[in-house]
Amino acid sequence: MTIILDGKKLRDKIFEELKAKLEKKSSKPTLAVIIVGDNPASKIYVNTKQKTAEKLGINSLVIEYPKDVTEQEILNKINELNNNKSITAILVQLPLPKHINKFNIIDAIDPKKDVDGLTPYNSGKLFSGEIPYVYPCTPKGILLLLDEYGIELEGKQAVVVGRSNLVGKPVAQMLLNRNATVTMCHSKTKNLADITKTADILISAVGKNIVGEKYIKNNCVVIDVGIFRDDSGKIRGDVDFDSVFKHTSYISPVPGGVGPMTIASLMMNTIELFEANNLPQ
Ligand code: NAP
Repeated sequence: MTIILDGKKLRDKIFEELKAKLEKKSSKPTLAVIIVGDNPASKIYVNTKQKTAEKLGINSLVIEYPKDVTEQEILNKINELNNNKSITAILVQLPLPKHINKFNIIDAIDPKKDVDGLTPYNSGKLFSGEIPYVYPCTPKGILLLLDEYGIELEGKQAVVVGRSNLVGKPVAQMLLNRNATVTMCHSKTKNLADITKTADILISAVGKNIVGEKYIKNNCVVIDVGIFRDDSGKIRGDVDFDSVFKHTSYISPVPGGVGPMTIASLMMNTIELFEANNLPQ
């Protein structure tokens, strides 16, 4: 029997816990979000983050820039936010316009306020097997979901498709840190299906519908990170859910799987940074 990994249910449980935690505190975290340009998807994501934060009792500040803003202007703002004690978490919504070097921007965020866990300090800690201030949101959400359903990682064969800094690389490292045996695949991987078919746990973070039933072995766990709109405008994941479902032991749906867990992790990270920064609470 296949079990659906219900990200919405776990997200709601986490939100209840976070809300109750914040209600007991005398001061609140403040999440600052920088958004550049008018990418409609980015605007929706930022709006959701802001609304969710406020629902949980987290203050939020959205700083919007036109798409022709200079890199220096954003760096100046980050410096100001780093030095502002009332701001406890900083997020720069990606992607950024091409004339802005995203690495310069991410590097400028104080690691103690780096709510996405993407600065070189925090990713360095993760990749050296130490504890970062926070873990990147989507990988953290995936691990929380696997743990919630009691899915064993140690000694398991995990295959991660996609090698972005945001998802693929950190989730592979987090699985490795939990003693899974990890293989990473990407657009230049040859005979992808031969590799994905070895997976006890398959994580696909590509943004294209690539995982069909010939790509998996029986009873594997499938985590679908991808999210995109197909030609008819329907929201899809990387996995062909209907054909793959019956072969899996656990599978995350799109929507309703990893997406809600990403936002849950973002809210958890915001509160973790607030607590770690030792501000009066
Ligand atoms: P990304 O930076 O575009 O990375 C995509 C990765 O997929 C790259 O490593 C690329 O390989 C690989 N790839 C592309 N075509 C491939 C193919 N045919 N076979 C195997 N690998 C292929 O994307 P991302 O930021 O990691 O996001 C991936 C997907 O997850 C997107 O759909 C995004 O919207 C979604 N996402 C969802 C959430 C959520 O909360 N649900 C969060 C973040 C991202 P190369 O490195 O060789 O180019």
